[in-house]
Amino acid sequence: MPALTTTTIGSLYRFKEDLNESIDDAVRFQRELGVDIVSDGEQRTDMVSYFAESFEGLAIENWAPVVTGKIQLRIKPELFSKVKDLEYVRSKFPELKIKVAITGPTTLGMTCGSRKIRSHYKNIMDFSLYEDIAEALSPIAKALVDRGALLQIDEPFLSQGYKDLEARVRLIDRIAEGLPADHVSVHVCGFVGGHGVVNYLQQLDNISVLSFAFSGTVEKRNIEHVSRAGFQDNGKMLGAGCIAVTPLSEEQINTPHAVADKLREITGKVGRENIAYAHPDCGMRATNKSLVPIILRNMRAGVDLFG
Ligand SMILES: [Zn+2]
Repeated sequence: MPALTTTTIGSLYRFKEDLNESIDDAVRFQRELGVDIVSDGEQRTDMVSYFAESFEGLAIENWAPVVTGKIQLRIKPELFSKVKDLEYVRSKFPELKIKVAITGPTTLGMTCGSRKIRSHYKNIMDFSLYEDIAEALSPIAKALVDRGALLQIDEPFLSQGYKDLEARVRLIDRIAEGLPADHVSVHVCGFVGGHGVVNYLQQLDNISVLSFAFSGTVEKRNIEHVSRAGFQDNGKMLGAGCIAVTPLSEEQINTPHAVADKLREITGKVGRENIAYAHPDCGMRATNKSLVPIILRNMRAGVDLFG
């Protein structure tokens, strides 16, 4: 059987001052450490700024995001920063498979609206805020997939649970509407066992991969909330977080043997045929920089050991 495919969740530390050189380094770094499907490493470090530059109704004031009015995409999707970065990566590394992450509506709306909503929306729980964000993200998603990328929609906040959680999850389908489902994934990190979020995600029509974490202290318990039937019966595959991203020292990094054991545990529960790829539990922007290469090296070695 061929080895499991590996990928990253997206963010890495910033490599260089110059953006394009930094993206080059991030891609080469992943390839050298045996990552099959690479990301741009999220070298534009501030996610809120690049959305604020491109979205009407979103601004940065005193270094914090503010919702100033109705949210709409105010540029052509091909001018959105992540689309430009994708085009750059494709031109430099035409042979590589690339996955691009965008922030989902709940996570983006909660991040931007929690400080101040000046007009148009009643408050942070106004569902139309999230519908408008989904609407604005949809042409960006299409532009990314049209340019050959796999799309990952990041929605870490969904693990927290909301009274309208099911409707929030369904907004992901709206973003991915009309796209080939096998190109689209959702990443929800943290503990996903509460609030039925796994079940809601498995009902989505336009998504094929659900990516969860299984390796951190809290994330370990996610194994109890996934099943073979849940994936197979709904035509979904699992992105398996198989190595923790929060070690504080080299000694705390999961070893290749621990990664292989984790993959055995996950495939025992979900079925190897239902695994899309293995990846670290989450992005690694906040991970101690010197530990990041060891994490990726151990993941690769663990995947190879798993066989
Ligand atoms: Zn994550």
